Amino acid sequence: MVNADAHIALVRAPNPSPMTLSGTNSYLVDGGNGTALVIDPGPALEQHVDALLQAARERDVRIETIAITHGHPDHAPASAMLSQATGARIYAHPASSVPRDANLALDGVLHAGTRALRVMDAPGHTLEHVVFYDPIAQTLFTGDTILGEGTVVIAPPGGAMRPYQRTLERLAREFPDAQTIRGGHGPLVTDARAKIAEYIAHRKEREQQLFDALGDGPQTIPELVQRIYGDTKRALWPAAARQLLAYLEALEAESHVSVRPLARPMNEDERALLNPDWATLVDRDLAAVVEAELGTAYRIDVLNRYELS
Ligand SMILES: [Zn+2]
Repeated sequence: MVNADAHIALVRAPNPSPMTLSGTNSYLVDGGNGTALVIDPGPALEQHVDALLQAARERDVRIETIAITHGHPDHAPASAMLSQATGARIYAHPASSVPRDANLALDGVLHAGTRALRVMDAPGHTLEHVVFYDPIAQTLFTGDTILGEGTVVIAPPGGAMRPYQRTLERLAREFPDAQTIRGGHGPLVTDARAKIAEYIAHRKEREQQLFDALGDGPQTIPELVQRIYGDTKRALWPAAARQLLAYLEALEAESHVSVRPLARPMNEDERALLNPDWATLVDRDLAAVVEAELGTAYRIDVLNRYELS
């Protein structure tokens, strides 16, 4: 039997962290004509760029194209180094701020040698996210839209919940033939449809928990975090807070929830939860990744009380 995905190689970047799991997954797709495509070159680490060049040499292919799923600092920055070393053209979402040679054709195709990957506009984790589909390997390259393990952070203002949920629904609807998922972090997902269904269900469940909590009266985000994520590690609470903010912003826009600022200033615990100072908590490279993933450059200055309307 011919292995339908033997033309795809995973090169994992040496940037493990709670945010990036075992590291960023970069993929080398052999185009079948002596050229290759790299999806998500990863962080700007020389060692990792060398590993990508080495993977191409081993397969006797020339990296001609670079495509990024989204612009976060653990996915995109190596593009420039890799392009410089190979002359490859960089493709990104039209709304991306990443320096590039061309825009990806949203809901069109991206050619990798003799192969044609479908490109799906996939807003949610960021608003400039795409997912690629390789119909030969029947695999989805999902970046941070779906990971190999755990769930994804959707944090405003870079990310938005309803677009994210619509993206998941589209993946379920438009790729019935997908067998596997190759996410931006974590292991290969061997049951694509089950994973997408699990992600859709998880979001609905969290939103229901939020609704149930608000049913008991108006609450602030720190109160809601304690209630809904009480048994989650405290280190993850700032991420949980931003996650709830994403739901609350959606519910507010849909007039299901109303918002009123509290008259008192936030206390130290509330401030640390809502506006964590990553630079004092983790090293500088990781701080940049966490900041981007959680959108914490966007400061929450007012303590709001949320109420069902
Ligand atoms: Zn990301």
